[in-house]
Amino acid sequence: MRKRIEISLQDIVSYWERREDESGLAVDWLDANKRCWRCGYKSRLQRCHIVPHSLGGSEAPSNLVLLCHRCHREAPNVADPRFMWIWLRATCVPFYDTYWSILGSFEFERMFGRLPFMSIGLDESQADKVKELLWKEMENATIHFGEGRMNPATIACIFAKVEEILTGKPPKLKCPEWGQQYALKTMGFKITRSDILEDKTS
Ligand SMILES: [Zn+2]
Repeated sequence: MRKRIEISLQDIVSYWERREDESGLAVDWLDANKRCWRCGYKSRLQRCHIVPHSLGGSEAPSNLVLLCHRCHREAPNVADPRFMWIWLRATCVPFYDTYWSILGSFEFERMFGRLPFMSIGLDESQADKVKELLWKEMENATIHFGEGRMNPATIACIFAKVEEILTGKPPKLKCPEWGQQYALKTMGFKITRSDILEDKTS
């Protein structure tokens, strides 16, 4: 049977604070027993194996990091331990409590082909108005049971709704194939609109 993990959260922090530089990480070591090492939010933390148990990873602090349950689900499950730290540094953000709204911006970009609140003619003086509208629109959104936070798609739709209120124009896809283009581009394919149209008819 699998042994229960008895190591405390602080044991894991103490082990790593002496070995890993906190620069480029989502947390300062001082907060690392209460904030997720990937998204930086205050959360109930889970012990996440660097090398999974099923691939021979141990239960020692040297093989554990602390993540919230959402980041734990997204963490790499591979035998090479270097990738956990590469992933933590590559996918975190530099400020606390911003990770999920930044992910909402990425989702917005996938939907509309640009970042939210850019190139719609807003200026600095409207920043407070935008904030006020965001808070108001959050009341028209909800959270999946068990998720604890709004997911990126929900945040992206709130951004789109607030833009609509500000500009008076409904949210619009860049072009009907934008989503597929974006996906192909991120996989390294150089693709044109006509390629997609041809592909559809063949
Ligand atoms: Zn997290």
